[in-house]
Amino acid sequence: MNKHLVLAGAGHAHMVTMANIHIFKELGHRVTVIGPSDYHYYSGMGPGMLGSGYEPDDIRFAVRRKIEEQGGVFLRDSIVGVDPVQRELRLESGETVAYDVVSFNTGSHVNIPEITGSRERIYTVKPIERLYQARTEILALARKQSITVAVVGGGPAGVEVAGNLGQLLEDVAFPAQIIQFAGNAFLGKFPAGVQKKSQRILEQNGVSIREQGHLTRIKENRLFFSSGPDEHADFIILATGVHPSAFFQEAGLQTGPDGGLSVNQFLQCPDYPEIFGGGDCIHYADQPLDKVGVYAVRENPILFHNLKAYLAGEALQTFDPGGDYLLIFNLGKEQGVLRKNWLQISGRLAFRIKDWIDKKFMRKFQ
Ligand SMILES: Cc1cc2nc3c(=O)[nH]c(=O)nc-3n(C[C@H](O)[C@H](O)[C@H](O)COP(=O)(O)OP(=O)(O)OC[C@H]3O[C@@H](n4cnc5c(N)ncnc54)[C@H](O)[C@@H]3O)c2cc1C
Repeated sequence: MNKHLVLAGAGHAHMVTMANIHIFKELGHRVTVIGPSDYHYYSGMGPGMLGSGYEPDDIRFAVRRKIEEQGGVFLRDSIVGVDPVQRELRLESGETVAYDVVSFNTGSHVNIPEITGSRERIYTVKPIERLYQARTEILALARKQSITVAVVGGGPAGVEVAGNLGQLLEDVAFPAQIIQFAGNAFLGKFPAGVQKKSQRILEQNGVSIREQGHLTRIKENRLFFSSGPDEHADFIILATGVHPSAFFQEAGLQTGPDGGLSVNQFLQCPDYPEIFGGGDCIHYADQPLDKVGVYAVRENPILFHNLKAYLAGEALQTFDPGGDYLLIFNLGKEQGVLRKNWLQISGRLAFRIKDWIDKKFMRKFQ
């Protein structure tokens, strides 16, 4: 036995595996977890942290402590490359880590447009932890002068961020303008009822929504769009969609259209069976999945089982993505919009349900 299991990224899909590192240790394996921070932040509560409804401690998992308590090794580093033939990961520090079995859960990032001038007041919605820095800096300036904050992106992350900025800037002494630049269509992938309900709450929370095409570039904090006038903002938060890291493609691994690692129904790479993956960084070949935490969470027990089974030479389990999922937007000021199948609820009840589910998830793994 005595194999080396490496968890590349301490994300949502690795929660159950990370809680059970001791089992791999008892079976005689070495386990190493690699991530850029000693903490993993729960994205579902990230916009709420920006709006000051939650503090960083409420929304993060102490992954390093959890791994080390169970006899695993935690490397604070980032994966920048993988060599599937040599079975090695290349890290930002220059180190390489050899594996017998590896599971990827490195999430996704926002692509940055062309930027001229300072980047200091430009944020992306990922990594989630940076939203705390955004909160501190936006609030500090808003207490001294009137400000404009631009949120770019018309999807769920954009609406949650804009709504929570409404909460953050509610009581500042100077006028604060929040503009959500929602691309060509505000919540374009959602039913009209969800769009209307979300728009109403955002407008109540002080957000103005504009649909003027895609952001093309930023120059000295002035935003330029494919249609419509350009606009200056003191702070810019980019929520323009997320993409997996490029290193899967660079390694010649099979990938989906957005560069995510292609995996089969066992969450396993078809060409290299010792490579597994879950969360936003994979392309589930049978049925491409939305990049939502719900799927990362559903993948947990399968990844845990399959990593154990693969190391033991036993049968793997198949992943079932399941049916439609419950979606709730936290739009700030304890207001939310909920959608599941035909059901749509908006207001305080929707927020309360999300708050209860999110806190329960945190208690389970914290
Ligand atoms: C603002 C916002 C709000 C959201 N709200 C919801 C919601 O309410 N419900 C929902 O279902 N989905 C939500 N999502 C989507 C959700 O964030 C993702 O689908 C979910 O985070 C995917 O989990 P993951 O573990 O794959 O990725 P992540 O949560 O991004 O975790 C990846 C982990 O890997 C680490 N990592 C990244 N790169 C590397 C690297 N190169 N090497 C090593 N480690 C690395 C990161 O630090 C992180 O700890 C939201 C997204 C955003 C941006």
